[in-house]
Amino acid sequence: MILVTGGAGYIGSHTLLSLADAGYESVTLDNLCYGHREAVLEGHFVQADLADNFALDRLFETFPIEAVIHFAAFCYVGESMEAPEKYFSNNLVNGLNLLNAMLKAGVEKIIFSSSCAVYGDPSVIPIPETHAKSPINPYGLTKHFYEEILSSYETAHGIKHVSLRYFNAAGADPKGRIGESHDPETHLIPLVLQAALGRRSEIEIFGTNYPTSDGTCIRDYIHVCDLAEAHVSALTYLLSGGQSISLNLGTGKGYSVREVFERCQKICQLSIPYRDVGPRPGDPPELVASGDKAREILDWNPRYSVDEIISTAWNWHQNQKF
Ligand code: UDP
Repeated sequence: MILVTGGAGYIGSHTLLSLADAGYESVTLDNLCYGHREAVLEGHFVQADLADNFALDRLFETFPIEAVIHFAAFCYVGESMEAPEKYFSNNLVNGLNLLNAMLKAGVEKIIFSSSCAVYGDPSVIPIPETHAKSPINPYGLTKHFYEEILSSYETAHGIKHVSLRYFNAAGADPKGRIGESHDPETHLIPLVLQAALGRRSEIEIFGTNYPTSDGTCIRDYIHVCDLAEAHVSALTYLLSGGQSISLNLGTGKGYSVREVFERCQKICQLSIPYRDVGPRPGDPPELVASGDKAREILDWNPRYSVDEIISTAWNWHQNQKF
């Protein structure tokens, strides 16, 4: 049985489907603060908060948990700048509760949702895992610190971990069962698609004078189902005795904001209202993964193109269930 914290969230809920496809049983722990109960289509479900030590201990006593996939965290960069205390409490203090409950229960394997935000403003593109970690916002700091906490827990207590540093997660289940539903939404692709559907009046393009080919920021967009499969591969790797490791999850190919916007217009076959505005504070010009290590260690290859990312997301947004 695999414990999935935050299994009712965007990447967590897609991972539940991949776990089930691979024959793993799961139990989700989610406080439903941002998650959706309707998104949990596989496994057991327990509504509880990671701050609740009693609930955590009971969970480990009730289910025969062999490993943990830890998604539950706050993930808004902008909010983390305004309310860092919220991020340090939830992502670090509550994350420590989880690790301590694992120790008590003798569970020694964890897959952690990290982020390319650990790199800050990188000096090399594509970014290798060996690049210095130098986050530029509290959200990125929490991911960096938790990776370091995991290393200390390994040294002291033998807990093995895989930290997966996601680049830009996007797209939706190709069968349309689940997809991205954040409130508030801050990510580019869902915002463009909401503008296409008239659910918002326009999309703002943040910054047009970056040192990139068309002046807009470049990101490495990775399909959520590819991310989900990487978690299953990382789990199988750890359960078969793999060593602790940090891995980038990206495609190695970057697209500018303008290119993504234009591909959305083409796929939706609509003219989408937009406005060029100034840059969003804290956005580095370019983030593209070097994905060689994940391919080598996990034998994982992203399958979805950027157009498939947009078209599965478009299908979801047109028929959104939650
Ligand atoms: N972006 C934008 N308009 C928006 C939201 C995002 O131009 O309304 C840009 C943002 O500046 C970044 C890229 O789209 O360069 C991806 O942003 P997103 O928030 O999706 O992911 P992030 O890279 O911040 O994790």
